[in-house]
Amino acid sequence: MLGSSRDRANALSPQQSTETRMWGPRATDAFAPSAPAPLIDPFQRAITYLRISVTDRCDLRCVYCMSDDMQFLPKRDLLSLEELDRLCAVFIQRGVRKLRITGGEPLVRRDIMHLFRRLSRHLDTGALEELTMTTNGTQLGRFAPELAALGVRRVNVSLDTLDPVKFRAVTRRGDLKVVLDGIETARRAGIKVKINAVALKGVNEDEIADMIAWAHGDGMDMTLIEVMPLGEIEGDRTDQFLPLSVARARLESRYTMTPLPDRTGGPARYVRIAETGGRLGFITPLTHNFCESCNRVRLTCTGKLYMCLGQEDAADLREALRASPDDTLVTQAVIDAIARKPKGHDFVIERARPAAVPRHMSVTGG
Ligand code: SAM
Ligand code: SF4
Repeated sequence: MLGSSRDRANALSPQQSTETRMWGPRATDAFAPSAPAPLIDPFQRAITYLRISVTDRCDLRCVYCMSDDMQFLPKRDLLSLEELDRLCAVFIQRGVRKLRITGGEPLVRRDIMHLFRRLSRHLDTGALEELTMTTNGTQLGRFAPELAALGVRRVNVSLDTLDPVKFRAVTRRGDLKVVLDGIETARRAGIKVKINAVALKGVNEDEIADMIAWAHGDGMDMTLIEVMPLGEIEGDRTDQFLPLSVARARLESRYTMTPLPDRTGGPARYVRIAETGGRLGFITPLTHNFCESCNRVRLTCTGKLYMCLGQEDAADLREALRASPDDTLVTQAVIDAIARKPKGHDFVIERARPAAVPRHMSVTGG
């Protein structure tokens, strides 16, 4: 067994020792003896969870997420991996305990494993409880073993259908087998996989019960997500929108569902299904409000910090980050941003033409 992330990373990657020397230790590495004040928002919610979209690019084009001819950001606008690492350290020093790497598709960002190698040091110190990721699974076959070795224990894989033809249609280009193989590789490497499926009217609504049986049969939790009005796409989202209240009522004819008290500080509410023994989550931002216990903020790949997925207000951390190699300015920018975190969002699907929030989920991270 390898003792620390540095041992692990050195064993895994000869580049890592060079990289560590190049980037060097920072004042924000969470080794400080006395912890600085945690991030508490105006509604007394502690911010302990940061989601980081490391790229807006993706190798798929899911119909509810992106348009087919999506315009991506110029690469020069992106924060470097070093800058992302520095920002994460600032948040961790201020009490963030969980990081989720997302996108776009996080595993298509060049050299993304360097960031995972760097971040894993916070798992070793105990400053970070969890380093996790949301992925479409297309690159898991390649990266899962190293992710597991770096301390990634769980990943969410987005998968809306088990029908290869529908999968290609929903993603506009994906190969289902590649994703299923990626999931298998991750599980063999010891990573717990949760399946996230967006409930899509007329697309996968008849398949949901079978998908649950498949996921639970393999020991994977599953979460159903309602389509959210984020970013312009081709077509009308009201056509895609399947209220989870409807999906749930249908599932009740096949499954016995017992609500669970499990809370993640996020929008998911869970049930246990008696027939499968597995856990099913519902993310219902449009039919239920989930804001009162919100513990999270979202960082984009350009350094914008969104305090709420459903609101436009964002703080530009890139400027503060680049203004000085010292972290004082950027830490203050983070504190000021958290002081502006709103009480909640305001999604309403009927008002969502073309989009209630103009940015895509792939920009803010799902
Ligand atoms: N590419 C990765 C993936 O698909 O898992 C990570 C980013 S993706 C934006 C994160 C999650 O957001 C996925 O589960 C996806 O299905 C979901 N998503 C994207 N656009 C959405 C929308 N408009 N409404 C609801 N969920 C959406
Ligand atoms: Fe890519 Fe994920 Fe959006 Fe699908 S949902 S297009 S995989 S970012």
